[in-house]
Amino acid sequence: MRLLTPSETSLAALLLRQGGLVAVPTETVYGLAANGLDPLAVARIYAAKGRPADNPLILHVDGLEAAWPLWSLNDVQTARLVRAATLWPGPLTLVLPASSSVPAVVTAGLSTVAVRVPNHPVTLAILTEVGFPVAAPSANRSGWPSPTSAEHVARQLSGHIDAVIDGGLCGVGVESTVVDLGAERVRILRPGAVSPEVLEELLGEPVVRYEAAFIGASPGLRHRHYRPDVEAVVPLLDPVSAWQSADALIVFASTAGALASQMGERAAHTEVLPDSADGAMRALYAALVGVGTSGARRVQIELPDADRHSDSAWDAVRDRLGRATR
Ligand code: AMP
Ligand code: MG
Repeated sequence: MRLLTPSETSLAALLLRQGGLVAVPTETVYGLAANGLDPLAVARIYAAKGRPADNPLILHVDGLEAAWPLWSLNDVQTARLVRAATLWPGPLTLVLPASSSVPAVVTAGLSTVAVRVPNHPVTLAILTEVGFPVAAPSANRSGWPSPTSAEHVARQLSGHIDAVIDGGLCGVGVESTVVDLGAERVRILRPGAVSPEVLEELLGEPVVRYEAAFIGASPGLRHRHYRPDVEAVVPLLDPVSAWQSADALIVFASTAGALASQMGERAAHTEVLPDSADGAMRALYAALVGVGTSGARRVQIELPDADRHSDSAWDAVRDRLGRATR
């Protein structure tokens, strides 16, 4: 696996044109890119990740112009798309009926396809240079935490992919909001940094909030995900005994501060998440990777609190941490 600098976009584009696999930075997490119109290249993504074949991929393009041919839309869907796409480039993936140009291996046989324009200069340059849509799921081994640095990618996929291009740390830190614009009622299939309130404002219609009950509609949600490399991963229920234990912990800053002033610093591995939703999103996967490499056999994870963290800005953190402990 080659480690490319952010200026080596032409080499990354060449590898993609040859059917190779290149991990690329985006504002959400690192993606594992391949030519989305080449079924053999796409099949390599599934193999490298150990991804179940029923979990469809997101196609990445450099703008709305390049997205149109991937879909086959009615008037209502077109009007929704035009409004929602004003958030592109950004952490928003749109699901709509696929056109016949999209290979079945991308959609895992579904009649819809998910498309996004990532907001990262390096990857936008690569997308413009190749001129084809790039399939890119998160660049982790299936089931493991998503990578937010080139180093995290290398740790999981070195030996399985052709290159990773180092674009620094991801600014958002959790995967895109996935929204289904094709169904009768618009609905969130995966919570991310774009909130349902922002979408409602933009679309001028109600948006059905994310619920675990949608798992059938977004196949990726069925599978074990985000789990750190630790034998036991459990929700933190009793802060005082957790603080005194030898377990690794992932806790919010306010909790860590209160416990430390009460009982002093702890010796065991402790990952502290910022108290803001944005900050927690950005730090979340590095914390999961951190406990995985700490040597701990058990980790307790503080889940967002129903009172302190109730608004929809916390949906993505609640979802990822909740599923990491399941
Ligand atoms: P990843 O790229 O690893 O972040 O995963 C992509 C996510 O998007 C998974 O949760 C998929 O289930 C979801 N997804 C991709 N394509 C579709 C689609 N056509 N319909 C619904 N969900 C999709
Ligand atoms: Mg993923």
